[in-house]
Parts: sequence; structure tokens; C-alpha cells
Amino acid sequence: MSEQKSTECFVCRKHRGEVLIPGGTIYEDDLVYGGHAQICEGESTAYLGYLMVETKRHVAGLADLTDIEAQTLGLVVARLSRALKAEKDVEHVYAFVLGDDVAHLHVHVVPRYRGAPHKYRGVRVDEWPDAPRGGPKEIEAICARLRRYLQ
Ligand SMILES: [Zn+2]
Repeated sequence: MSEQKSTECFVCRKHRGEVLIPGGTIYEDDLVYGGHAQICEGESTAYLGYLMVETKRHVAGLADLTDIEAQTLGLVVARLSRALKAEKDVEHVYAFVLGDDVAHLHVHVVPRYRGAPHKYRGVRVDEWPDAPRGGPKEIEAICARLRRYLQ
């Protein structure tokens, strides 16, 4: 997948508006995009507040960023984290860069909700069965709150 072209890249297609994401764009400027993660195929709900912050430029990882992209990305991750922490029962916010399957930098910005058992901490936090999940309507509602918080 590292040879993936930007024309077929899922993230690039999303930024061009070719893929609809529940909740729509939360933040966007010339360098960075932020929005809610999509609902996985075959499922009807998603982990609420699971956000993706991506560079507009098709680059694979943090090491590929220009200084201004890195600064903007960090700022957007921090602001979205603050917005998430303003949500009820969000105790902590994780940021992960994995990128094993998609060669377009995307930072997973993921809230940990109050009461998450220790075994679900870290990258498995969204596997906690009691975590808040929701369909398109709930995702739209949380995105609207996060957008309002950023203003
Ligand atoms: Zn891309």
C-alpha cells in the first residue's frame, strides 16, 4: 500500500468530497483536515468521538511533514483534544499514528470515556463494549458540538 497513488487513496478521496463521512468536516484549512471516523463496513454504529486528523498533502508519515504542516497538525490535534475533553465523561484523549495500511498520514484522536477498564486502555479503547457508540445521527450531534467548541 505504500505505493498507493493519491488518486485512489481513501483519505485524498475524502478530502476531495468523493467519500461522505458521517458528521461532515469538523475542521479544515489548506494543510489539515479533521473529522469523525467512519462507521466500519458491516456495522451500524461507531465509537463516538473517534476522530481523524489528516494532512491535506498525500504523505505517509510524521517524518514527511514540513514544519508548517507539523505545527498545524499539532495545533489541530490539541484543539480537537480540548473539544473532546469538554464532552461529558471524556477522561483522557489518545493520539495514535499507525498507518500500516493507508500511506496517507492520519492521526487517530480518540477519547477514553470514564469507567473504561484497564484492559481497554490504549489502542484497544474502542473495543470496550460499554463505550458510547452511535449511528449517523449521534455522530452528527457530537461533530456539531466539537465544531461549536472550536469557534
Ligand atoms: Zn492520500
